[in-house]
Amino acid sequence: MKVQEIIESAKNIAVALNDIQAQQFCRYFELLTEWNQRINLTAIIDEQGVLLRHFIDSLTVLTVLPNSMQSLHVIDIGSGAGFPGIPLKIARNDLEVTLVDGTAKKLRFCDEVISQLGLHQIHTLQGRAEDLGHEPDHREYYDLVLARAVAPLPTLLEYLLPLAKIGGRCIAMKGSEAEAETTLAAHAITKLGGRLNQVAQVTLPGLPDKRALIVIDKIGSTPPVYPRPGGAPRNSPLG
Ligand code: SAH
Repeated sequence: MKVQEIIESAKNIAVALNDIQAQQFCRYFELLTEWNQRINLTAIIDEQGVLLRHFIDSLTVLTVLPNSMQSLHVIDIGSGAGFPGIPLKIARNDLEVTLVDGTAKKLRFCDEVISQLGLHQIHTLQGRAEDLGHEPDHREYYDLVLARAVAPLPTLLEYLLPLAKIGGRCIAMKGSEAEAETTLAAHAITKLGGRLNQVAQVTLPGLPDKRALIVIDKIGSTPPVYPRPGGAPRNSPLG
């Protein structure tokens, strides 16, 4: 992966990267390719695919996150191989990032990337979103709660909204069905203390697929019963 190509691709979505940041993305790509031979991290492994569908796609969050919002506490739920949390941290060093996943081995990969890239104020945490949502250290603590490709929207909202502080926001990274999913989840958003801010359509230069960022403001406290225990957010999503 070439430094100049990374810089140009980021520029296409109005994200400025310098040489050092682009080199960090190159190293991330190398580590991803290397580790993916041993553990299943991603089905996308070609250079263009990783650049656009993982790195640049992750950075699209910055299109709804003004530079004026500095030093936010960010939590990335179901981060897997670090998406979108690690690319965001590379691009915006002011962010303090927590990467959460239920699977320890994926987080070991993230730890390795963090260490090799020399990133600070970013760490991994093994756990389930529905448990963290009840822990006092995490509940209603974060300025920004993110997730990409983790669960259908109503389930996802029950994972994400309890973690956002009042005045904070959640961003769910979704595909072409985002508008319809959001309409169906209107009640869930309200029940959990949220209010829809926007569904921002995202196009990635060079890719045909449609994507969207569902942005939800946390305007009131989430009732203590949420997230419900025992797999309920997944098995009987809020209607
Ligand atoms: N966000 C990454 C990974 C998506 S795969 C990307 O976009 O590439 C979904 C990941 O979410 C998996 O790694 C899985 O282990 C994790 N996951 C699913 N449900 C979860 C939950 N309830 N709590 C924490 N992690 C979860």
